[in-house]
Amino acid sequence: MRVYINPGHDLTYDSGAVNPNSGLRECDVAAKIGGKVKEYLEAAGCECRLLQSDNLYYDSDYADRPVAVCADANAWPADIFVSIHCNAANSAARGTEVECYNRMSDGGNLAQCIQGQIVHALKTVDRGVKEMPGLAVLKHTDMPAVLVETAFIDNDDDARLLVEDWDKFAAAIARGVTDYECSLQ
Ligand SMILES: [Zn+2]
Repeated sequence: MRVYINPGHDLTYDSGAVNPNSGLRECDVAAKIGGKVKEYLEAAGCECRLLQSDNLYYDSDYADRPVAVCADANAWPADIFVSIHCNAANSAARGTEVECYNRMSDGGNLAQCIQGQIVHALKTVDRGVKEMPGLAVLKHTDMPAVLVETAFIDNDDDARLLVEDWDKFAAAIARGVTDYECSLQ
């Protein structure tokens, strides 16, 4: 299976959400988890491609990264697409959710596989699978695609998990992908 991994935001241009107390940045957490997901999935026999960039669909001007993430995934082509983010709200909200274009689809199935593995492994609050058809990475990708909101980076309890157990998030995402792969056979 060919898996496209897209850690959210950008290490240089866009931190994403930031924990107000520790300064923990979403882009760094996503990069770390995404890199490890790639390692785990390659060890499991998947082919992986990873790109972290805010140029999602020719909607931002990155001279150094002229290829947009969704176009790159479509051209490769990937079998599935996994974007990795941290959520943020009001410092009180916590938990994990995985977003997909349409719940009743392969993308919805992939989302449920990853959601189940993360909630089981990390004991995070289960916010469930959500349909968000307006998200660029879900709308402009041709293959089953999900956006993983690992945990809330602006909540100090969730942020601690992201710092101490980032590797478990990566392992759980990878297991979700392999569960999905098995469900197809
Ligand atoms: Zn994000």
